[in-house]
Amino acid sequence: MTSPKDLESLQRELASLAKRQGDLEDVVLEVMERRETAQERVRELTERVEAIQAKVDDATARRDAANAEIDAEAATVTKERELTVADIPEALVTLYDRIRAKQGGIGAARLYQRRCEGCRLELDITELNDVRRAAADAVVRCENCSRILVRTPDSGL
Ligand SMILES: [Zn+2]
Repeated sequence: MTSPKDLESLQRELASLAKRQGDLEDVVLEVMERRETAQERVRELTERVEAIQAKVDDATARRDAANAEIDAEAATVTKERELTVADIPEALVTLYDRIRAKQGGIGAARLYQRRCEGCRLELDITELNDVRRAAADAVVRCENCSRILVRTPDSGL
């Protein structure tokens, strides 16, 4: 049998250990709650990442399809241009390409109702008379934007 003093000491130690156990159980509960919150957040973020990834995949697929379409169209246009250029004098093609490079990709414009459709300006009477006098196969150009003017029955001449 232990002494009353030892017994008292043991009881104090037991009480202290019980309190310590209670504190640790509180810590475990808190950690479990935090873990649940973190897991919830992981699920939420994972769903968002998946949704964004689906959008990225969709946009990538649409971009690839558009690129394929553009490539196919570019190939068709290049082929058409080669066929067209074959029938046009080389000097005129060179002139057209030079103007086109300077004028934002448009080297020739329709002359429609006395107006250059390249720069949208109406030709003055002197210019119109020059165009009227020019031979049908002569290359006429807009004095304002330098583009080659394409004459049609609607040119207003
Ligand atoms: Zn013009």
